[in-house]
Amino acid sequence: MAIYLDHAATTPLRREVLDAMVPFLTEAFGNPSSGHAFGRTSRAALDDAHDRVAARIHAEGREVVFTSGGTEALNLGLKGAAWAGKARGHRIVTSAVEHHAVGHTLHYLEKFGFEIVELPVDRYGRVDPDEVEAAITDKTILVSIMLANNEVGTIQPIAEIGRRVRRHRSVLFAVDAVQAAPYLEIDVEALGVDMLSISAHKFEGPKGMGALYLRHGTHILAQQQGGAQERNRRGGTENVAGAVGLATAFELSAAERPETVKRLRRLRERLQKAALTVDGTELTGHPKERLPGLLSLIARDTDGNAVTMALDLEGIAASVGSACTTGSTEVSHVLAAMGFPDEEARGALRLSLGRTTTEAEIDEAVAIVPRVLASMRIGAVAVAADPLGQGVGVA
Ligand code: PLP
Repeated sequence: MAIYLDHAATTPLRREVLDAMVPFLTEAFGNPSSGHAFGRTSRAALDDAHDRVAARIHAEGREVVFTSGGTEALNLGLKGAAWAGKARGHRIVTSAVEHHAVGHTLHYLEKFGFEIVELPVDRYGRVDPDEVEAAITDKTILVSIMLANNEVGTIQPIAEIGRRVRRHRSVLFAVDAVQAAPYLEIDVEALGVDMLSISAHKFEGPKGMGALYLRHGTHILAQQQGGAQERNRRGGTENVAGAVGLATAFELSAAERPETVKRLRRLRERLQKAALTVDGTELTGHPKERLPGLLSLIARDTDGNAVTMALDLEGIAASVGSACTTGSTEVSHVLAAMGFPDEEARGALRLSLGRTTTEAEIDEAVAIVPRVLASMRIGAVAVAADPLGQGVGVA
């Protein structure tokens, strides 16, 4: 049986979540906008899903907009706020390590005259809150920084950044909490955020389902025109089953979070210790301020794609970093921003544990991962010394 260590890419749908969704895919099929009994049943479930998600992040139900995933939540929040704020200014501050759902969205806005200021990060992938504040001018309308990084697991000092952004009344603060949501307590008041995005498939909910928290009174322009659904912020008949699935998965994940975090941290540290015994390996991301189950490393003189293939053959599903860039020859923009040269960044490997990861799976991984890493390094060094395979030392 394969060992799945790619929970940062996605997680399996939880049985209880599927069970909660099934009625809304079968007998309770009404359109929430219909006035009759079928519609009212769906409306009640949808309203309840808003309230349940809101309760977990210290918000109100009306401040939650359901979307088709993390990517759409981020697009809606960022584009919506940019267009709504255009009369006030055109400057948007972000970091160099954001997920493409943020980075590419902001580059798209650049084509329309918005100025995007990408702040550098330190060796561990952290943004300096002082630099965020220094980048804010009277033309700044928005700051967007992720809570936890998907490639290296580094957690940003979001509450501290939120305090700085709050000093500038007309600047909105957007946070990508897609990777953080399963593992960190999210309190939109304590973090000082105006917009925050989450995605169900990262915490054992359905794929293609996300939510955007939008602080009451924050004006955005809808990016999808149609009906008046989601309080005019997203037209289109709502995915009631998906919303119920997201809310159920989020509640279960939050309830078990303290225990999950403790266990995953311990298991990840075991795997980390084993992997780092191999010469030429180095942990990437912050040593302490990091997601509990995400182990990211660089193995010098290896190719991350080749390592993941070798691990796959040994029954371990891992990734080089972001699932979205797997298979491309592009090196990670995150590792580049952290100061790793291309030849080192090519040796990136991410092993991400999740709630369903077992002790026995980590026992096996502890035996397999160092062996595979060591053999890939030896192979690479041998090829570099004798690329034509003529035997080292042949004249
Ligand atoms: N932001 C981060 C940090 C992510 O890791 C991901 C997905 O991997 C996304 C956004 C996009 O979310 P989704 O897959 O739901 O579109």
